[in-house]
Amino acid sequence: MMAGLMLTDVNKKYGQVQTVTDVSLEIGDGEFVVFVGPSGCGKSTLLRMIAGLEEITSGTLTIGDKDETRTEPANRHIAMVFQSYALYPHMTVRGNLGFALRMTGESKAEVAAKVDPVASMLQLEALMDRKPSQLSGGQRQRVAIGRALVRSPQVFLFDEPLSNLDAELRVQMRVELAQLHKKIGITTIYVTHDQVEAMTLADRIVVLRDGQIEQIGTPLDLYHDPDNLFVAGFIGSPRINEISAIVAAVGEHDLTLTLPGEISFSYPLPAPRPKVGERLTLAIRPEHLARADDPASGAVRMNVNYWEHLGGVSYAYGSLADGQPVILEQRLVQSTSDAPSLALAIDPSRAFLFNSAGDRLRPMS
Ligand code: ADP
Ligand code: MG
Repeated sequence: MMAGLMLTDVNKKYGQVQTVTDVSLEIGDGEFVVFVGPSGCGKSTLLRMIAGLEEITSGTLTIGDKDETRTEPANRHIAMVFQSYALYPHMTVRGNLGFALRMTGESKAEVAAKVDPVASMLQLEALMDRKPSQLSGGQRQRVAIGRALVRSPQVFLFDEPLSNLDAELRVQMRVELAQLHKKIGITTIYVTHDQVEAMTLADRIVVLRDGQIEQIGTPLDLYHDPDNLFVAGFIGSPRINEISAIVAAVGEHDLTLTLPGEISFSYPLPAPRPKVGERLTLAIRPEHLARADDPASGAVRMNVNYWEHLGGVSYAYGSLADGQPVILEQRLVQSTSDAPSLALAIDPSRAFLFNSAGDRLRPMS
């Protein structure tokens, strides 16, 4: 049995401290949703409220069609996998996988009937008689997932499950998790501070900051159409470039912006319409900047500090005329350059404009 779930105006207060504020969110049956945000933004608190490990201060949680706001954790049909796998060290893999079932009084045969297919799916069959200390990090992680799976949860919760693994294993487990979800299709909520994990695993991403939702969308929605500067800065690596821009003129269809180095730059008129003299931020990703062949028209100067050549891709690190840092990404650079400065072309259709509060100013058309 599977189920979607819905959070409505969910709040969490620890004493007087508001940790989660007015979170409303609908998650579809079988969907893989990732909560992402910086450390301390309330991801774990939100997940623990869904699991029933923390009380929901106000608001409601429904799973399937049932109000589960005050349901005991054991009765929510939810399984949670933590960062520390919390396996029983003195039990074998088989013992760990079947532990929860044995505790509910199921017979040996019943336990085996549930454990064996899960062990097979997670490729643990050859490891069933080992203790956790005889397993690699990735294998332990698979046992922790298997232990949750044998209980046939309606909803699967993960709290930073890959943070303890080394970089290579993290990538491998990420792929395994994605494939596992494809196979079993259980509604999944996955918490991480790593935007790459969020981008690669999620059907939809929920970006959180200070206990509030900043934006909800598919990975590509967030990348191509961020609602605010926080989301634009959080999604994408290297981080998006922020260029200070002053409104020089407001025309019928276009804004004229002054960029660092007194460069005049034209941008489609956004709504709401900014005022002359207003200070805005023009943001463009390193991969969307290009070297300008004709430095005359609207190109900004970049002072280059150093280059990183990774082979397929190269990065130039430097600063603009006002000292603001800037990164340029180039594909397949054939020979190294030591030019102290470059002209950068900014494609207005690739650049996002934000007001001083960080809200997106979208072109009107
Ligand atoms: P994240 O998982 O995004 O790193 P958490 O949900 O763990 O963030 O924490 C969110 C905020 O709530 C933090 O500021 C944290 O200090 C606070 N917090 C978490 N648990 C408690 C608690 N039991 N009592 C008081 N404050 C808490
Ligand atoms: Mg956390």
